[in-house]
Amino acid sequence: MAKTDNITHYVCDRCAADAYLAANSAASADWREVERYDQYGSRASRLLCKACTDAYKQLAAKQDAEFQQFMAKKE
Ligand SMILES: [Zn+2]
Repeated sequence: MAKTDNITHYVCDRCAADAYLAANSAASADWREVERYDQYGSRASRLLCKACTDAYKQLAAKQDAEFQQFMAKKE
């Protein structure tokens, strides 16, 4: 097909990787919008490619574990 409608341009907020993908394509599922609250309660939303999503999951898992440890201390 020479012309395809409904293409979305994805750009990773972390590494600047980009892709032009159809909304229902399998590759579009690799991109994730992640949300995070900082210490002041401000919400940040970022679009991440597959590689950065995998790296973010590791970071989030580490932070989850640290939060659980923090909550377990009763001093
Ligand atoms: Zn990326």
